[in-house]
Amino acid sequence: MSKQPNSTAKYKVIADSGGRHYQFFCEASGVLVHTTNPIRAVSAEEELKLAWETEGRAHFNQCQKCGRWVSTVMYNADVFECVDCTPWENAPHFCKQCGVENSSRDTYCSKCGTKLQYGGDSD
Ligand SMILES: [Zn+2]
Ligand SMILES: [Zn+2]
Repeated sequence: MSKQPNSTAKYKVIADSGGRHYQFFCEASGVLVHTTNPIRAVSAEEELKLAWETEGRAHFNQCQKCGRWVSTVMYNADVFECVDCTPWENAPHFCKQCGVENSSRDTYCSKCGTKLQYGGDSD
């Protein structure tokens, strides 16, 4: 009974007049990362697979340690792990709020002004 890593990120299905959209969430920060176009398939499993493979997956990285799917912001590409498993030593390069890439010397996001840091700590 070995625990398989999740095959997709955490998701929600949003149904509207256009069809069923899949929303994929970062498993580390809980932030909504991507909402798909309407997806149609013969079964719910097929739909999820299609939504994930055609749209969702490109926005995520899988932590090699804990197996969670996390957004680029929460992924430490130096070690292929999420920042909960291996935090970056410096300020993150990507804004948690708007996702824009900042230089490693910036303390605040150049686009939205959010402080660039991980977790809830303040200094
Ligand atoms: Zn991890
Ligand atoms: Zn920002």
